[in-house]
Amino acid sequence: MKVLKFGGTSVGSPERMKSVSKLITDGTAQIVVLSAMSGTTNSLVEIANYYYKGNNDAAANVTAQLEQKYHEVITELLQNEAIRQKAQAIVSNEFAIIRSFSHKAFTLSCEKSILARGEIISTNLVQLYHEEIGVPSVLLNALDFMRVDADGEPILSEIEERIGKVLAQHAGTKLFITQGFICMNPADEIDNLKRGGSDYSASLIGAAINAESVEIWTDIDGIHNNDPRIVSGTKPIAELSFDEAAELAYFGAKILHPATVLPAKVKNIPVLLKNTMEPQAPGTVISNKITAQGFKAVAAKDGLTVIRIKSGRMLLAYGFLRRVFEVFEKYKTSIDMIATSEVAVSLTVDNADHVAQIAEELKHLGTVEVEHNQTIVCIVGNMINEQKGYAADVFSALRTVPIRMISFGGSRHNISLVVESSYKNQALTELHAHLFAQ
Ligand code: ASP
Ligand code: MG
Repeated sequence: MKVLKFGGTSVGSPERMKSVSKLITDGTAQIVVLSAMSGTTNSLVEIANYYYKGNNDAAANVTAQLEQKYHEVITELLQNEAIRQKAQAIVSNEFAIIRSFSHKAFTLSCEKSILARGEIISTNLVQLYHEEIGVPSVLLNALDFMRVDADGEPILSEIEERIGKVLAQHAGTKLFITQGFICMNPADEIDNLKRGGSDYSASLIGAAINAESVEIWTDIDGIHNNDPRIVSGTKPIAELSFDEAAELAYFGAKILHPATVLPAKVKNIPVLLKNTMEPQAPGTVISNKITAQGFKAVAAKDGLTVIRIKSGRMLLAYGFLRRVFEVFEKYKTSIDMIATSEVAVSLTVDNADHVAQIAEELKHLGTVEVEHNQTIVCIVGNMINEQKGYAADVFSALRTVPIRMISFGGSRHNISLVVESSYKNQALTELHAHLFAQ
C-alpha cells in the first residue's frame, strides 16, 4: 500500500480535485491524505482570531464568505443531485459547528476544532466525487487514529495500532481518503500537527502501515537546489538521502514540512516529491540510498534570533553549557545552531516567544546580547569528511558576505552559517553561482 498526500493547491478548485482523482484511481492500493483547499486554513485562523477577540460579527462575515465558496465548489464539482445534497448537508453541518463557537468562551481548543473543518470538508468532497464517478472509496476519519501526546508529539505506536484496526474493517478496499493535519490529544480534544502538518500526517501514516512509499504531491517538481524565488536557474534534485532532506526541509526548503522525513527514515520508506501539474516529471526521491558526493542544495531560514552569552566563568569550567541549555529547556525553546569559544557561546533560536525571559535568566551566567533578523544559510550535500576543499569552496563563494556564525562538522551533510537577513539573497546567489552553475 502507498500513501499519497495532496496539498492545498492540489485540491484548490473543483478542476484540481478532478486532476487529483486521475492520479489516485489507477487501481493500486493507497491511502490518500488531503489538506484543506488552499486559503481555507488561513480563513479559519481568521475566524478563530475574531472569536477570540469577541468580534462575532467579523467572524460571521468571514464564515459566510467561506461557506458560500464551498457551495459554489459543490455545484461545480458534483452533478448528481442526491450526491450534491449529501455534500451540502456535510458542508452546512461543518459551518454550523464553526458558528456554534460564537456563544462559547473561546479557548485554544475551540480554535483547533475550527481549524479542523478545512480538511474534514475537502476529504468529504473528494470522496463524494469518487462516489459520483463510480470509483469505490472509503473515507477514514483521521481523528479515529491520529494521536499526539501532551507535548503535541505524535505517538506512532498508538497510530499504528489504531489505523491497523480501522483498515482491517475494510479488507479489499483499494482507495482510502483521509485528512492530513488533524489529530486528537490526550485530553480527547481535536488537535493538529501545526501549520503545514499534512505532510507529516502522510509520513506518519506511511510509517504506521509500513507503506511501500509516501508520495507528497505539490505544485513544484521536487526540492530545488536553491530558492527559486530568489535565484534563477535552480534545478530539482533527483535524489536525496533522508539526512540531507531533513536538513533541507528544516532549513528553509518550504516544500516539505520538516518533521516529515523522520517517521519515513525510521521505517526506511522512500518519500517521493511529485508535481500535480506535471505528474510525469521525476521529482525528488528521498531514500536511504547513498547519494553522490558533493554539494546538493542551498537553503535559508529567516526570522532567527542569535543569543550570545559571554562569561569569564566559562573559562576552564565544566557545567557551564548545561546551565545555559537548562534555561532553553525551561522555556521549551529549541536551539538550531551553536558556536562556542572558550569564553562565549552563541546560539540561534527560531521561536522568539520567550527570548526576553531567556535573556533575563541567562544574565545570571554572563553578559547577554540578543540580535534579531538573522538568517541561517545551510549548504547541504554528501560532503565526505576526509575530502578536501568543501569548506574552501563555500567560504570563497561568500567572500563578499559578512558571516556571523559557522557550524561545520556536526554532520557530514551540512555547513550552516548565520548572516544578517539583509545579506540572505546575496549569499544564496553567490553560493549558487560558485557551487552549482557550471
Ligand atoms: N491545512 C493545513 C495548513 O494550511 C495543513 C496543511 O495544509 O498541511 O497549514
Ligand atoms: Mg504544505
